[in-house]
Amino acid sequence: MQTHLACLTQAELSEFVGSLGEPAYRARQIFAGVHARRLNSFAEMTDLPRELRAKLDTRAVISTLTLESRYISSDGTRRYLFKTLDNRPVETVFIPEERRDTICFSSQSGCPLQCTFCLTAQLGLLRNLTAGEIVEQIIVALNDAYGIGVKTPRGTNLVGMGAGEPFLNFDPLMKAIRIMKEPAGLHIVPNRITVSTAGIVPRIRELATISDRPHLAISLAAPNDELRDELMPINKKWPIEELLSACREFEKSLKRNERFTFEYVMLDGVNDSDEHARQLANLINRHRLHAKVNLIPHNPAEPLPYQPSSTERVESFRKILESKGVHAFVRRPRGRDILAACGQLAARSTAQGASEARP
Ligand code: SF4
Repeated sequence: MQTHLACLTQAELSEFVGSLGEPAYRARQIFAGVHARRLNSFAEMTDLPRELRAKLDTRAVISTLTLESRYISSDGTRRYLFKTLDNRPVETVFIPEERRDTICFSSQSGCPLQCTFCLTAQLGLLRNLTAGEIVEQIIVALNDAYGIGVKTPRGTNLVGMGAGEPFLNFDPLMKAIRIMKEPAGLHIVPNRITVSTAGIVPRIRELATISDRPHLAISLAAPNDELRDELMPINKKWPIEELLSACREFEKSLKRNERFTFEYVMLDGVNDSDEHARQLANLINRHRLHAKVNLIPHNPAEPLPYQPSSTERVESFRKILESKGVHAFVRRPRGRDILAACGQLAARSTAQGASEARP
């Protein structure tokens, strides 16, 4: 079996290169070739001797994901649909922004959680992604947006808000973050990464004890157990009180420059009333949390039974939160027309923006 190089930390790569009888500096060259220069093949690593490149060709692969389709939205957002070696779908979204681009990556193929407002849920869990499959999504998106190995002009933020529940694939996720932060590689530090969870309480508590970690976002979607049980059934396992106590613990562990936020999808006539806003503010205040709330108008997609809340409703909801001392912001939807927005990832093809280009 060939070794998947995008999946290896620098130390693991040194060990692998050592097993080929090569000196340690070759590992540094190969790590830079895969992550900093973002090369697609050993043939392009011309700083390596020809014999070593031939040896690597038989013993290792740089990447394992195959790009199936790329969709480009009218707002510039790009959605990539990959297939793993075992033919599982993986989706990634590149969102160009004025100050800094954002790449939304997936941590699982499909998702085992059954959030009723999310299309990904309908796939079920196909499998966890490896650390290498997470890293590769970023490499391909950057190469596509800027060219192979071209330095990103504005820097990159990463959000783990694509398909899957990141905290149900915790170790590969944290390994991918360790690989990506290397200055000799992609050099995307944890402070540029936000991971969103539906509320896997033990992992929130664990993250509170880790020092080099990404920012945390909690997808809440409802201010009481009755509604949250319905919208996010994971709530039956870890109900709101338990979740918010873990959040309080996490918030107490925050260092300067770290962020912790709530995400609240706004579903027309379901969770968006003034009363829901008051309940949400009371909940956050009662737990003495200072986290801000991102309000996300739902992104409709057949056959989900929901519609987005109107702009006026979202604004009124936001004002109630603010009047009670809870900072709230409205997140602008991106890439809706190519099914790239939050909750829309389900490995579907769309008529718009299809491209066969292989970055
Ligand atoms: S919202 Fe996230 S956790 Fe819930 S089903 Fe969708 S991908 Fe899974």
